[in-house]
Amino acid sequence: MKHTLSRRFLSRAQRSIPGGVNSPVRAFRAVGGTPPFVAQGKGAIVTDVDGHRYIDYLGSWGPLILGHAHPVVVRAVCDAARRGTTFGAATEREIDLAEMIRTCMPGIERVRLVSSGTEALMTAARLARAWTRRDRIIKFTGAYHGHADSFLVAAGSGAATFGHPSSPGVPRALAELTSVLPYNDIGAVRRFMSKHGRSVAAIFVEPIAANAGVLIPRPGFLQTLRDVTRRSNSLLVFDEVVTGFRVGMGGAQKLYGIKPDLTCLGKIVGGGLPLAAVGGRRDILGMLSPQGPVYQAGTLSGNPLAVAAGLATLRLLRDKPPYAILEKLSARLASGLSDLLTARCVSHRINRVGSMMTIFFAEGLIESYEDAKLCDTQQFAKFHGALICHGIYLPPAQFEAFFVSVAHTSGVIRDTLRRAKKAINIL
Ligand SMILES: *Cc1c(COP(=O)(O)O)cnc(C)c1O
Repeated sequence: MKHTLSRRFLSRAQRSIPGGVNSPVRAFRAVGGTPPFVAQGKGAIVTDVDGHRYIDYLGSWGPLILGHAHPVVVRAVCDAARRGTTFGAATEREIDLAEMIRTCMPGIERVRLVSSGTEALMTAARLARAWTRRDRIIKFTGAYHGHADSFLVAAGSGAATFGHPSSPGVPRALAELTSVLPYNDIGAVRRFMSKHGRSVAAIFVEPIAANAGVLIPRPGFLQTLRDVTRRSNSLLVFDEVVTGFRVGMGGAQKLYGIKPDLTCLGKIVGGGLPLAAVGGRRDILGMLSPQGPVYQAGTLSGNPLAVAAGLATLRLLRDKPPYAILEKLSARLASGLSDLLTARCVSHRINRVGSMMTIFFAEGLIESYEDAKLCDTQQFAKFHGALICHGIYLPPAQFEAFFVSVAHTSGVIRDTLRRAKKAINIL
């Protein structure tokens, strides 16, 4: 498979854009090879500038639960654009979307719309710190909560109370306010909170982790987070940027029956346009400006096009819930791929909740980033390259989730497995 134009575009892009891409994983550094430049997408298929077609399991990293260019969403965006793309003033549709979110998410009584997941998490951290009048926050290893300074933090050495910057440019003094614990480690959470709980503003967690590859919460893990935060008057923040509307209309909080104090949404909630949200308890959200003293703002917050896309998407999901069918198709895909790998004696493990999944090239359970790190990332790179050559587009790194959409019909899944069989034969 030749990527003549993509290769040319990449070198042209590198002369104007750092690394040639506007978000780092797009550059394929983890798997090698030329990242295809995309020309268009329709349903489950994306076409690159060289005319190659791929069955897409990246789904733009999560938003596209309806597939590419769903006609209802496209119409909603076009209709909105004709009436003006931005006003910097309130519009009725923003209320519709807020009401929809409030109805779906058990933990959301009030919600503010922002433009990216990063912004939602940054606002949640500020709110939690203001509400509790404490500075320390907790996150888990391998979690991604966007790129605000407080979250670009890795576990410190030794007792690991204080995190350290995971990127140059993050002030050490700020990173030290973030503590990093291993995901799914109930004992570590209990020990940390019994010692430091009174200084913790909030625990941030992806209830189903999606950024170390998919990690499924152990029974009792999320409940423990709820219990220890309540006991120390800290807040529990669910980062449902991926899981919100992905594992069900009520997100992971509905699925597992745990009500967080704050919830961050992104990806699906914007229907493929830049929109995200921070929501939660009425008393806490009441601290946001102009109702309260905590400052937060955005020129394009609640943008009419993004709100139209989000609303159209959520209404479709509500009126015709696809979750049972997504479960069936995703299960078929996972077991089909697993059978093919087993037949080739390739050690692997698939973690899956509904339509989000990761194939780890490893033996044994993968329940934390520490487990995931033991994977054979070379094997993943080979697998990824072989699938790309056979017209299947997976996320270009081992530690990511791939997503099935309603456009992935049983015919598309069958086609995927046929192609994967050929690809896996050359592994
Ligand atoms: C994508 C993601 C974010 C960041 O969202 P952006 O819109 O990319 O800023 C935050 N948290 C999780 C869990 C994500 O997957």
